[in-house]
Amino acid sequence: MKQFWFVVGSQDLYGEEVLKTVAERADEMAAWLSEKLPYPLVYKVTAMSSGQITKVIKEANYDDECLGVVTWCHTFSPSKMWLTGLAMLQKPWCHLATQYNKKIPNEEIDMDFMNLNQAAHGDREHGFMGARLRKARKVIAGYWKEENVIARLAQFQKVCVGIDFSKNLKVMRFGDNMRDVAVTEGDKVEAQNKLGWEVNFWAVGDLVKEMNAVTEEEVDALCKEYFDLYDVATDNTEAIRYQAREEIAMKKMMDRNGCKAFSNTFQDLYGMEQLPGLASQHLMAQGYGYGGEGDWKVSAMTAILKKMGEGENGASAFMEDYTYHLVEGAKYSLGAHMLEVCPSLAAGKPRIETHHLGIGMNEKDPARLVFDGREGKGIVVSLIDMGGRMRLIVQDIECVKPIMDMPNLPVAKVMWKAMPSLETGVECWITAGGAHHTVLSLDVTAEMMRDFAKFMDLEFVHITKDSTVEALEDQLLVNDLIWKLR
Ligand code: MN
Repeated sequence: MKQFWFVVGSQDLYGEEVLKTVAERADEMAAWLSEKLPYPLVYKVTAMSSGQITKVIKEANYDDECLGVVTWCHTFSPSKMWLTGLAMLQKPWCHLATQYNKKIPNEEIDMDFMNLNQAAHGDREHGFMGARLRKARKVIAGYWKEENVIARLAQFQKVCVGIDFSKNLKVMRFGDNMRDVAVTEGDKVEAQNKLGWEVNFWAVGDLVKEMNAVTEEEVDALCKEYFDLYDVATDNTEAIRYQAREEIAMKKMMDRNGCKAFSNTFQDLYGMEQLPGLASQHLMAQGYGYGGEGDWKVSAMTAILKKMGEGENGASAFMEDYTYHLVEGAKYSLGAHMLEVCPSLAAGKPRIETHHLGIGMNEKDPARLVFDGREGKGIVVSLIDMGGRMRLIVQDIECVKPIMDMPNLPVAKVMWKAMPSLETGVECWITAGGAHHTVLSLDVTAEMMRDFAKFMDLEFVHITKDSTVEALEDQLLVNDLIWKLR
């Protein structure tokens, strides 16, 4: 079972009694937190020597079920004995700077109490070693039963789930990238080195062969699922059945090859009648990542953010900035795609519609899900290749109910207010080089993405309500120097 390890720092100067109490409390805390967190926190050891620490960290590195290590120093724990272990730690690390007791007990406090409850300075010694080693870590401070601390620990766990998923992610590319597009390109070897992704192509002809082998019974079964999930607003049943056939074939190929994300392009549909629309949308709803126009980076990121979200398949979707509403007092971005917007963002029950799609080589009108996106605070995320490094750009946004119905727009639509304002937000985004394709998420936070970038060794740029173009330009200049020196 996927889990997190709790390693508690101490030393052997305090005597049996104290160490016994530390171990009992660590066990109690791990058990209590496990009830509140999405994944169990398993108490491993009260560490008192370099050998013990190195041993538990080697085990953590080796154990596929261990997604991250949480450390805390109940007493003082001299950090030279942590050095060897921490230096070789390969799992994400959270330093939980907490304390067993909430209050300073006025009457009870004496030197015995002080010896036992030394986290305030034990955690500082521990923190120094993290800093000295330049080790990526998440520091969370506060009382362990406080809601905010639990929520941030839960977020750390979800980030670790995303990291574990990323390191095992395979992306299936049907065909190549759209011709001449720059931002969807990138160094796949570097992506595999940093993020773990295996990005490979499969011929569209192989997909067509797979589609031809799909049986009518399989198509019937998936169509039944579509009709249960979605309203049907088209008479063109053949188009829906064709999308089902595409979905089944893509899913079979991905599952057979262990892929959890895919990309395709309207420029390469050789032997196919329709660009997958409904097919890609329903695959995304099941947690598969997708990127249009061969955009494998956004496809992988979509799958990762979905995994990091609520219940391991959260409200995160492949998105594209389409057009702006530039009216004073009501400035919004309209996001959509030619077909493929994930229904995890839908405000209501999506409708299946068929419409002509002018772009690409569609012989027939593709079926797609049409809906309005829901409201809520969120982020848009873009991963770009800067040549020599990847830059992860995150912008805070606020999704709104689309302010008009746009009856002739035949695709799903999402509307949002970018931070700090539409104009400055766009200026910052363009200055940073953010793509037109993004992952839009309503449940992964910017803090989670910052931690993801930190553990994955990616440059991180965050556009917030306080961002200015001037400060961003300066930051990018400094970042550029730093990343060239590394
Ligand atoms: Mn696109």
